[in-house]
Amino acid sequence: MIRAYKYKLRPNSWQANQFDEWLNLLRMQYNYRLSERFNWYESTRCPLDSCSLVSCSIAPILEQPDYYWQKRDLLNTKKLFPEYRQIHSQVLQNCVEKVKKAFDRYIKADKTGQRSGKPRFKGKGRYHSFTYSQMKQDCIKGNRITLPKIGDVKIILHRPIPDGFKIKTVQIVKAADGYYVTLTLQDVTVPTLRYDINLDRAVGIDMGLKDFLITSDADTVTIPQFARKAQKDKKLRNKSVSRKKKGSNRRRKAVKRLAKHHQKVARQRRDFHCKTAKRLLDKYDLIGFEDLNVKSLARTRMAKSILDAGWSEFLSILVCKAESAGKLAIAVNPNGTTQNCSSCGTRIPKTIADRWHSCHVCGLELDRDVNAAINVKNIAVGRTVIKAQRASDADAGLAEKPTLYSSAS
Ligand SMILES: [Zn+2]
Repeated sequence: MIRAYKYKLRPNSWQANQFDEWLNLLRMQYNYRLSERFNWYESTRCPLDSCSLVSCSIAPILEQPDYYWQKRDLLNTKKLFPEYRQIHSQVLQNCVEKVKKAFDRYIKADKTGQRSGKPRFKGKGRYHSFTYSQMKQDCIKGNRITLPKIGDVKIILHRPIPDGFKIKTVQIVKAADGYYVTLTLQDVTVPTLRYDINLDRAVGIDMGLKDFLITSDADTVTIPQFARKAQKDKKLRNKSVSRKKKGSNRRRKAVKRLAKHHQKVARQRRDFHCKTAKRLLDKYDLIGFEDLNVKSLARTRMAKSILDAGWSEFLSILVCKAESAGKLAIAVNPNGTTQNCSSCGTRIPKTIADRWHSCHVCGLELDRDVNAAINVKNIAVGRTVIKAQRASDADAGLAEKPTLYSSAS
């Protein structure tokens, strides 16, 4: 199990300066490595995709600046620009890795067939984090964290690091209100997770825009619409930025105020998601939800509301919290969950405006979202029972209560 814990840092002025200097140097390194890749790509791409008369020049084939080549080339960087010697080697290598990842996402499609856009060069102040890919286990002592080449930095441990977890990587992030450290922790002691699921405590949830979600027990959670509520404030702050002269001190301060606004909205939303997930997991053992394609939904007219609700963030928090509580949250195929009757399975066609489900076969009368949530719950429970039977067959014993085994992801 891998967890990320985030703590606030309180660096002294020298350390804060050092962070900023590193970030700026890494930003330039990132841009340089990116341009290296673009140049290679430009000069060696197949000339057949364009007219041969106006295609790019025929240059000798260069060595491809791939990840390992660029990593080796960091030596030359350090020779030519001695200021890069002050940066920890892992941090510098991680910068090259970032370029690799950004470029890979651009060239190759991921497993869902999506390709991301062309990586962009990062302007001043647009490079926010750096990572140590390995760390000593005893790097945190008291309220100090020892960062190589930076020194002991004051850290606010608002919660302890959980027992049995090893520190894998350490990332320093510059946010609108200061510096943070994100520790990636790995639980090495527990290889497998054991779930004890009581199927009486199962629920299905239907995500919506009228209500944030509605459960199969007809409980609703209203949508807070943080961004919509804060729109007026954002407008004012945006205006205040655009009224100020570019490059001025006052503009820089206004940008900071705008960034703090965005940070606040994001934090409100996250808080709401965590609390909603906690409430659900206190009440239920098994939670089924629709496996929605949020990205394609967000291309419709409802985009602002959908993104403001932040369904995918909520669902990933829910799955994560369920895992650490030994409970289950599973995604089910949303096909037919809205249309089919949850009592007899007859297909009752509905448009988006039909808010009521009334079945002419079995006479079920229900809110359409509750009907959908019950369908989701039934699919989730059905799948769990099959899984549990398989597990108990494998054990060659009949368990009274379905017990599931799942390897930790
Ligand atoms: Zn029916």
